Amino acid sequence: MSLDLFVKVAVDVPGLAPLSYKVPNGEEPVVGMRCVVPVGRREMVGMIVEVSQHCEYDPSKVKPYRQLLSEVSPVNDEWLAMTRFAAEYYQHGWGEVAMANLPSFFRAKPRPQYLKSLERLRESKRVKVSVKPDTPPVLNDEQQEAVKAVVDHKGFGPFVLHGVTGSGKTEVYLHIMAEVLSRNPNAQILFLVPEINLTPQLQGRILRRFADRVVVSLHSGLSAGERARSWLAMHECRAQILVGTRMAVFANIPHLDLIIVDEEHDLSYKAGDGIRYSARDLAVKRAHLAKIPIVLGSATPSIESWAKVQSGTYRVLTLRERAIKTAVMPTLELVDPRVDKTHKGLCSRVIKAVEQALSRKEQVIVFLNRRGYAPVLTCPSCGWLSTCPHCSTYSVYHKSNGRLICHHCGWSAPVMHHCPDCGNADLAPVGAGTQRLEETLSQLWPEARILRIDRDTTQRKDSAQKAFDAVHAGEVDILVGTQMVAKGHDFQRVSTVIVLNVDSQLASANPRSQERAFANLMQVSGRAGRAGLSAKILVQTRFGDRPIFDALARQSYEMFADALLKERRNEGAVPFVSQALLMADAPHINQSLEFLQHAAHLGERIAETMPEREIVVFDPIPMALMRVADKERAQLLIEAPSKASLNVFLRQWYRALLEVKTNVHWVVEVDPMDV
Ligand SMILES: [Zn+2]
Ligand SMILES: [Zn+2]
Repeated sequence: MSLDLFVKVAVDVPGLAPLSYKVPNGEEPVVGMRCVVPVGRREMVGMIVEVSQHCEYDPSKVKPYRQLLSEVSPVNDEWLAMTRFAAEYYQHGWGEVAMANLPSFFRAKPRPQYLKSLERLRESKRVKVSVKPDTPPVLNDEQQEAVKAVVDHKGFGPFVLHGVTGSGKTEVYLHIMAEVLSRNPNAQILFLVPEINLTPQLQGRILRRFADRVVVSLHSGLSAGERARSWLAMHECRAQILVGTRMAVFANIPHLDLIIVDEEHDLSYKAGDGIRYSARDLAVKRAHLAKIPIVLGSATPSIESWAKVQSGTYRVLTLRERAIKTAVMPTLELVDPRVDKTHKGLCSRVIKAVEQALSRKEQVIVFLNRRGYAPVLTCPSCGWLSTCPHCSTYSVYHKSNGRLICHHCGWSAPVMHHCPDCGNADLAPVGAGTQRLEETLSQLWPEARILRIDRDTTQRKDSAQKAFDAVHAGEVDILVGTQMVAKGHDFQRVSTVIVLNVDSQLASANPRSQERAFANLMQVSGRAGRAGLSAKILVQTRFGDRPIFDALARQSYEMFADALLKERRNEGAVPFVSQALLMADAPHINQSLEFLQHAAHLGERIAETMPEREIVVFDPIPMALMRVADKERAQLLIEAPSKASLNVFLRQWYRALLEVKTNVHWVVEVDPMDV
């Protein structure tokens, strides 16, 4: 007599707990395998999370699963535990996290050619020829100590590798990786980077250093097939190193022995839609589950990580010396545009500094975090402004293609020749984006070779790399661009960095904007003075008296972060409290607010049942940028003294919200970055 077997299967349906199915006779499913199951009238691929002889339902009413996908070995327990944690922490169904984050090949129903496709994915396409191995340089004492601390650590160990730009963080990563791989030939390494297109140098270095290993990558720039191939190569242990963006945190890595998160403060680790997870936080969780070290590297660590350094939860490894001996600390000059009057948006001291650098044949970076030609177009005679028809914001004037483009919803239209309200033919751009700045610079210095780098100039594959190569080759005198110019590039001949329009960030009400402004300023200023040239940073700002600039002048992240954390502790703000945001959008703001009002009421009732009444349910408010793509948006903030109490509250609240009948679209975000 054979006993009935049952499985629980996690499927990608919002808020749904794993479903029970009967195992067809003779089959031997294993936890971590996928199978095809009927869900309502649909068939879906789900993940088996439990195999048992018991079933809580009437066995005669439980349907069998349709097909066991046993050709791919099961994912391991650590992966299941991580996805389950993410589901509970971020308030989603387990299947939503587990299935939605698999490459599409593994979450789609098998096609007729499934087995053949699977075989093709397994064929290694790696060409070994073009990679020329490099020789690791000798590390300085600080770097050696950092490497030793990590590789000698047993079990879970979170490390913050804090090093100023140019201090050789990457070499520390590479040495740690080499040591981990030499101690354990089966070891696998997860290396997370913020944006892969901006880090081709890093990828190249990893490939050269580990020329005898299989290195694969996972990021949104890859085709579905390439993603599936990389995922499978790690899953089947044919690859040892995975370099990827936030999505790579969901790779199954059976012999995971080390995690590195480069630029751990970077906002792109936080997913902006779907399960709004933080890949950095999940990486720490994974390291904890796998009992391995994790290195969080940054010149300006996130305030959350720094708080954990202060409390002793994370260990900090500091690199103070610049690894390149000739590199020098830049000097900071603050230029107030109210005192030093501007010409075409540039103060005279700024103009003079550029002139001096050019005359010495040194390179200049002009940094402006606003792309396009002008942020808004106006009619001087009637006051018309180029608002986006779908958002409560302006559409940006792009002169190169003669269009108005909304950077929030993507709406775009040819720029009009006459004012749509009064017919006036002289529409005027207000303010400057990188395109206009480029134009201004070429008017001021017609001889100079000027290159602009922003998202508009780097849409084609490899275009960013080509642009950066031109800078390296000395073919550029002035580099103008957005934050993209600051990301991790070692420019050798840059002596002068100009920072424009940091004031919009400094004046922002968002508590996070100070952190971001400081990280940006540190990153940008790190571009200068790499090769022993005396380096100068000029910041055009009306907020020169802010303490942020004292810390910047000393290039001291600690000074900035310690002061900020002290302030936050006194105010009882993040990271000393935990937050969640309920966001709602609807055609009309009243509908969004009405839903949130009801949600707040439900929240209050749950909060009253909790000990200490420590949960704060704030009033619903319209979002700062209220209308985007014809949806009017509002938000409701929840605050709790700890992540644990927040989670207890959210679990009940989320369930209550799922019961609410509404047409309003809503989403809960845990640990929101913009409140
Ligand atoms: Zn007009
Ligand atoms: Zn828009």
